[in-house]
Amino acid sequence: MFGVWAPGEEVAKLTYFGLYALQHRGQEAAGIAVSDGSGVVVYKDLGLVAQVFDEPTLASLRGHLAIGHTRYSTTGGSTWENAQPTIRANTAGTTIALAHNGNLVNTAELARDAVERGMDSDGSTSDTALVTTLLASRPDLSVEAAALEVLPTLRGAFSFVFMDETTLYAARDAYGVRPLVLGRLERGWVVASETAALDIVGASVVREIEPGELIAIDEHGLRSARFAAPEPKGCLFEYVYIARPDTTIAGRNIHSARVTIGRQLAREHPVAADLVIPVPESGTPAAIGYAEESGITYGAGLMKNPYVGRTFIQPSQTLRQLGIRLKLNPLRENVRGKRVVVVDDSIVRGNTQRAIVRMLREAGALEVHVRISSPPVNWPCFYGIDFATRAELLANGLDNEGIRRSIGADSLGYVSLAGLIAATEQPKTRLCRACFDGEYPIELPAGNLIGKHVLEGVDRRVAGAGGEEVGPGGATSRGPGGQSFASSSTGGDVSSHA
Ligand code: SF4
Repeated sequence: MFGVWAPGEEVAKLTYFGLYALQHRGQEAAGIAVSDGSGVVVYKDLGLVAQVFDEPTLASLRGHLAIGHTRYSTTGGSTWENAQPTIRANTAGTTIALAHNGNLVNTAELARDAVERGMDSDGSTSDTALVTTLLASRPDLSVEAAALEVLPTLRGAFSFVFMDETTLYAARDAYGVRPLVLGRLERGWVVASETAALDIVGASVVREIEPGELIAIDEHGLRSARFAAPEPKGCLFEYVYIARPDTTIAGRNIHSARVTIGRQLAREHPVAADLVIPVPESGTPAAIGYAEESGITYGAGLMKNPYVGRTFIQPSQTLRQLGIRLKLNPLRENVRGKRVVVVDDSIVRGNTQRAIVRMLREAGALEVHVRISSPPVNWPCFYGIDFATRAELLANGLDNEGIRRSIGADSLGYVSLAGLIAATEQPKTRLCRACFDGEYPIELPAGNLIGKHVLEGVDRRVAGAGGEEVGPGGATSRGPGGQSFASSSTGGDVSSHA
């Protein structure tokens, strides 16, 4: 997620590069919204950033502020309608575009609220589109005032960047589950999910957006307001897997944290071996730490095809299984005849590790010892990571020995939760650890009022809907380069890419 307010700059291009740096956070869809002060235009589609945008498209997206998003679905299926930024105009003629990192847990309740306000569903089934709708349901208020009314009603994890014709906004939930940082350009401001995206566009890091803070940036400068008291609970899994190694969260560089976790792993689970290899790329820093601490030689044992996305982030089981085979290939010369320690960041369903152990044995490894730089993932995440249902998690119902047998390793060791937390240099109380220890910091609704498809199959039609939808061909809708495009979810085509 990325946002920029910078008159005189090519904001769509800056956003494109920012999104490129953040591609690892979502690979299902990408989109950019821009405004030149008179209208908001969104261009979005399913696919990677480089597949969705080309030079002519970016050149046609002109303005002085922009937001962008790469999607990884947690509420609402992987459809074009659910791609972001989402967009909605209010009856006063203001258009709001919004991008979201995280996941709300009171989506069903918010959907009811939207219906009560006379706002129709716009075809999307994401929590994000619902927030955009709620912001647009208060045409009598400024967007800033509407946000201060709506944000306290949202429960769950949200880092938002949003905009109207003139102003860039950013907000972070009271728990600050997902990261969001503010940066400075010579002639403007940037907000991004990770500091790495600021580096890439030449922005300096100013600070993190505070939990419970809303900021607004326009020609009058930057304003900050509080909509909730901060209760920081940053996602522990960002340190393990999600964030880029060159990103810094809460003052801690992610690469250094992962090397420290690897060192801890070596102290907790030593083994006699000839070679430490990472599962590239996210296992690399922890493998370096393991090798440093244990004194065992570090080397490459698996080659990764860099053009294949993260495996568990793909939306279906079939794609995940195919993804593993496409992604990794053993380096036979390096592993043949050796006792190998293979370091990975986490075990979710276990498909990746099972395939890796088998590949390494077939390549001639004498022993395969698996070391994991996070504790067992025992609980689902409702705050923005689509791990699985509890039943799909390998660690659910299996002890360490059961998991070892299931993946076929000679030995298996996970870093302890205390060891992982120590490596973040954050106090335990300031971290969400729910997927590891089941303590959910944000209350969850009972029953089936939660989950990825909570809004699918639900009738959200309203007789005489009050919300104005901005359809293709309207002031905020444009199809650069003749490719399919729509500014709202009124049914524009999914474009086919050349
Ligand atoms: S449950 Fe796990 S992945 Fe989800 S926010 Fe908490 S620590 Fe992060």
